[in-house]
Amino acid sequence: MEGLSTKEGIDYIAWIYTSETKNETLMKNCLECDKPLMGRVDKKFCSDMCRNSYNNRLNSDSHNLIRNINNQLRRNRRILEELCPEEKARTSKSFLITKGFDFNLLTSVRPTQKGSIYHFVYDYGYLELENDFYLIVKDNRLEKQLSGSKDYGKADS
Ligand SMILES: [Zn+2]
Repeated sequence: MEGLSTKEGIDYIAWIYTSETKNETLMKNCLECDKPLMGRVDKKFCSDMCRNSYNNRLNSDSHNLIRNINNQLRRNRRILEELCPEEKARTSKSFLITKGFDFNLLTSVRPTQKGSIYHFVYDYGYLELENDFYLIVKDNRLEKQLSGSKDYGKADS
């Protein structure tokens, strides 16, 4: 046992041993309210109410995860939108990071025929240039599609 004297080493091993055997002999407790469980060995909850609130909490945790990711995606888009008021703009990696941009979150990866790879966050894409610079582009096709379908029907007016 590195860093421990023989005495401490023995105590440590004894501690592991007792905590292991304790777990085996200890009665299991309700995962939600921690009350000791009676009855079946595979029981996890003392009541349906505890099972429900435990599962609800789990579900809301995954809901939170999705919400956090969606928020960061929207934030990423807002940052690109801010930096790219026209069709194209250039920025640096460090500036994106200062703004709170998260490079792990994107909605699509679009390689061009020339072999460049654009990463898109909704309708804004970025392309890594040399020396940690980035080109930001806006994909207007989506907007055109949407406004095109809106205008559809009132053509020739
Ligand atoms: Zn309970």
